[in-house]
Amino acid sequence: MTRSPTRDTRSAVNHCCRKLGRSLLSGWKQWAIGLTLLVGCAAPQGPAALPVAASPEPPGPIRHAIVITVDGLIPDSYVSPDAHGLRVPVLRRLVAEGASSDGARSVFPSVTYPAHTSIASGVVPARHGIVANRSFDPLEKNQEGWRWYAEDVKVPRIWDLASNAGYSSAVINWPVTVGAHATYLVPEIWRAGTSEDQKLVRALSTPGLFEAVLKAYPDFSARVTDGGIDDEGKTDIASYLIEKARPTVLFLHLTQVDSAQHQYGLWSAEALTAIEGSDRQLGRILEALQHAGIAASTALAVASDHGFANVNRLVRPGALLRQAGLIRLDDQGKVVS
Ligand SMILES: [Zn+2]
Repeated sequence: MTRSPTRDTRSAVNHCCRKLGRSLLSGWKQWAIGLTLLVGCAAPQGPAALPVAASPEPPGPIRHAIVITVDGLIPDSYVSPDAHGLRVPVLRRLVAEGASSDGARSVFPSVTYPAHTSIASGVVPARHGIVANRSFDPLEKNQEGWRWYAEDVKVPRIWDLASNAGYSSAVINWPVTVGAHATYLVPEIWRAGTSEDQKLVRALSTPGLFEAVLKAYPDFSARVTDGGIDDEGKTDIASYLIEKARPTVLFLHLTQVDSAQHQYGLWSAEALTAIEGSDRQLGRILEALQHAGIAASTALAVASDHGFANVNRLVRPGALLRQAGLIRLDDQGKVVS
């Protein structure tokens, strides 16, 4: 995710990961790591204010699927964590016990919203229609709005197919999901970066879900700030739903690695801390599966949407257009014609 217009884009830039060349994969096959868990146990009791939808379970040994994206995570994070001093025990476990790849090719353009829509739909941006992060807004009238709305996706995504088949779904902070037809939904959206945004996200989420999560995780409110829900808060929601609702499919989008790498650069101390934080959240998901008693019947995939590379020079070709008189800007530097 890239959300702050003031973010320092000089230190890093989205692009297809250097290590992505080994596998020519797209859509679902972008998963970098897959693991089928082996051990289950009884579900615990706890607060359950949220009405849980009745849902049949699909046949077969695997009856639940979870997809977690760690936005901007590059394969070196789990292929060679020691080279960077990374403490990522959960990623190491997934590599050791599951199937993993040392790279995957992202879609074009290899940025967050197109890639996430491809992961969830299995088709390239040219087909699903989300060809950029931001909405098409050449005159900059849309207040930097992104492509938040599910109605802009031209093809069904996994939760649509699950719904059509009568199965339940949970979608947490996944891009382009405002208005998505998921059983449990917390969409990714922001506007002004004030506390009003919290109300917006709650209003667009499944009614009662935030309140139910707060009862189960008293610290949850501290994890919902003016800057959005942090990764720990998103994992609170996912863990709650896994334990209480056991959805057939669950999609979770973690963003703090991307934010840290954008702001401080690849392999910065802040980025390493964020990667280790994501590893902790993955561990919490594994624990929730154990608590829910569905670990043995769940397939878990951890993926990234694109890679990163440090850059030290930024070219702004628009300046040449202005010098040539081909565009005009107002006092705020916005294009007026
Ligand atoms: Zn991204």
